[in-house]
Amino acid sequence: MEGKIYVAGHRGLVGSHILECLQEQGYTNIITMTRNELDLRNQSAVLDFFMEEKPQYIFLAAAHVGGIQANNTYPAEFIMNNLQIQCNVIDAAYKSGVKKLLFLGSSCIYPKMCPQPMAEEYLLTGELEPTNEAYAIAKIAGLKMCEFYNRQYGANFISVMPTNLYGPNDNFDLESSHVLPALLRKIHEAKLNNSPTVEVWGSGEPLREFLYVKDMAEACICIMENYDAANFLNIGTGVEVSIRQLAEIIKNVVGYSGELVFDVSKPDGTPRKLLDVSKLHDLGWYHKVDLIEGIEKTYKWYLEILI
Ligand code: GDP
Repeated sequence: MEGKIYVAGHRGLVGSHILECLQEQGYTNIITMTRNELDLRNQSAVLDFFMEEKPQYIFLAAAHVGGIQANNTYPAEFIMNNLQIQCNVIDAAYKSGVKKLLFLGSSCIYPKMCPQPMAEEYLLTGELEPTNEAYAIAKIAGLKMCEFYNRQYGANFISVMPTNLYGPNDNFDLESSHVLPALLRKIHEAKLNNSPTVEVWGSGEPLREFLYVKDMAEACICIMENYDAANFLNIGTGVEVSIRQLAEIIKNVVGYSGELVFDVSKPDGTPRKLLDVSKLHDLGWYHKVDLIEGIEKTYKWYLEILI
């Protein structure tokens, strides 16, 4: 409980919840750095920080993230920033003798036409979804880097691949956010403005799996405490909904009765993205918060920050 833990990305969606859960569980020696204090894209600054602080456990939750439109519009920034952040942190962790590192990836690492549900073994068996290829390539490099540092140096670096995450502290900017916060905001604003319709991108047909971020944070801590293996692990619920169903659930939670209008000029992205979570379940970990409850909690939080 006294081991020195560094949460990289503690102001982001997942990092902020990992930090909160660690504190709730009684961990006492946690360090964090804001982006102004330490730019993780700066190799020498990162190495200096690790050599000076000598953290023992690392949650690598820092990343350049965004929804389908941001990923599709700025692929150069997505690949460059993510490769820099993860290369610098993983290598500095090795050089400074970190005991264990947990790298956070994404379910977009799997092929666009991957058999469903997507088991860990399906990595690199087909072409990636073009709208988030840059991000996916960076995350694949990160998980492979952990695997190779483990194989060559015996470093205890492991990776987890979460499904689509949502919850308090998410990004609600309509241009750069993921679908769940975007629809929550659009539907909330449509209700306030008495607007008869809400615009949903794409056909509404794609299927997605959503995990409440607090569950994700708890899974990360559980894996940090109990799982030592070079193989990465999927983290999800094993439950999927269509974008149309998601929008209907959000309408119910918000209390909005207008119509959904689908803008098919916007990309659908990958048709299905359901994780096979049997390895995670074998470890005894199951999600606790279902989609409706998670959206209710997130909406409550969203209403509070608007005040
Ligand atoms: P993805 O899971 O990587 O495709 O990322 P997103 O969460 O951004 O998008 C998931 C799906 O939701 C895609 O099919 C989008 O076209 C669809 N979608 C519908 N409305 C929206 C919206 O307002 N914002 C976003 N980001 N996606 C939307």
